[in-house]
Amino acid sequence: MDHGRDLACPTAPLATLETLASAQQMIEQIRNASFSDEEDQWNPADFESFLHPPHEQFNLVDPQLHLSLSIYLSLSAHSSEATFNAMRKNIKECYPDSTMLSFNQVRNQLKSISGVLPLYFNMCINSCVSFTGTYSKHKKCPFCGKDRFKTSPNVNTAIPRRQFTTLPIGPQLQALWQHPATVAKLRDHLKR
Ligand SMILES: [Zn+2]
Repeated sequence: MDHGRDLACPTAPLATLETLASAQQMIEQIRNASFSDEEDQWNPADFESFLHPPHEQFNLVDPQLHLSLSIYLSLSAHSSEATFNAMRKNIKECYPDSTMLSFNQVRNQLKSISGVLPLYFNMCINSCVSFTGTYSKHKKCPFCGKDRFKTSPNVNTAIPRRQFTTLPIGPQLQALWQHPATVAKLRDHLKR
């Protein structure tokens, strides 16, 4: 039963003020939210794993895997793949037997351990808006007028000028409830 819809007037007209109309459309899109972005962007196996997250507890017994993940997670959001690879190169030069994972291998390991995968969305080059929901069909920013794409917007492979990455909250919560240490912290937090 959709209680939200019961409270709303089913025949409410679309507001004429542009900002109100946009807010109405966003409310409707939230009501109709689905996992279509996840299904579109992730491969079938990753999407299936998202719907049915792992229940077993992971254990980082491999010191090289532990090192690889630690360095990956200690990098700031603005650090690049090149930074990780430079550190890996130095470690391998000092310890030739090191089996430290590559950047992509770490990301794949994190995916399988946590089930947390990123989603990518186009955004205005000036950070005015993300081209999702109400703005998903826009070819230019509705606020500053800058082009969304580098190339012709009519080409299927149009290249966005800028994107942002988001980690959906659902898999993050699933991952937190997957391990006793983070479950204990969550319970402590909920008691406060
Ligand atoms: Zn803009």
